[in-house]
Amino acid sequence: PWTSPDENGFGLAPLAVESMVGYGPMINPTTSKRFIKETGNRKVRADAIVALGKPAIIYTCEANMMNKVVGKNMKPEQFETALKNGVIRKFDDLKSLADFYKLDYATLEKENEKFNGYMKAMKDPEFDCMFFKDAVLNTKGPFYAIRLWPRVHHTMGGLEINEKAQVLDVKGNPIAGLYAAGEATGGVHGMVRLGTVAVADCIIFGRIAARTANGWAGC
Ligand SMILES: Cc1cc2nc3c(=O)[nH]c(=O)nc-3n(C[C@H](O)[C@H](O)[C@H](O)COP(=O)(O)OP(=O)(O)OC[C@H]3O[C@@H](n4cnc5c(N)ncnc54)[C@H](O)[C@@H]3O)c2cc1C
Repeated sequence: PWTSPDENGFGLAPLAVESMVGYGPMINPTTSKRFIKETGNRKVRADAIVALGKPAIIYTCEANMMNKVVGKNMKPEQFETALKNGVIRKFDDLKSLADFYKLDYATLEKENEKFNGYMKAMKDPEFDCMFFKDAVLNTKGPFYAIRLWPRVHHTMGGLEINEKAQVLDVKGNPIAGLYAAGEATGGVHGMVRLGTVAVADCIIFGRIAARTANGWAGC
């Protein structure tokens, strides 16, 4: 849910958006209002964006962008590239942001004020967004905004393997000499993989595959 339709591949937007959530509201372009917990489960957020039928918009003020994103999750030169490519857009004030995305300014202003109030109270009675103590209220421009549309993040299906990383045939028997690990395999995570553990899956089963292939008997 943190990828942008304004670029291809992994892109630069996720580097910013991963750190922006909780620091600014995510807006439905049709209603100009918030619609989902910004810091919530990524599948739920992705589904909610798709249900809008149009890319959502996330924004935050310069103070948060400079404190949390640039030089942290995103190198300054990546930030500059994203600005140049129009993946991240800079607006002097909320009115210019609303005009650019064709949002209703009065509604957006109210949403922004409400969100600031929740940030201050560190409690969001509407969507239960998580807030952070270092967050600056979004009262003063410039603001930075990104359009969001989900991308395929992880494929759950694939080859079935056993605990030795051996690929199984349709009858559940190991296929001699064939090993697999990572996203080419399916079933290791069950129905939904836990966040962050895909790389662990690659490393652990990759090592096991190599050891099994090498005739290692341990587990
Ligand atoms: C936006 C995004 C964020 C993510 N964040 C995280 C995270 O925070 N933590 C985490 O654990 N996981 C994360 N993941 C998932 C994780 O990155 C992947 O599951 C993991 O990298 C898969 O590794 P892999 O080696 O199994 O497959 P891949 O990285 O897809 O490698 C497969 C390789 O095979 C090559 N290939 C394909 N076909 C052929 C062919 N016919 N011949 C030769 N080569 C071929 C491809 O070019 C590719 O290099 C994220 C994924 C995305 C997209």
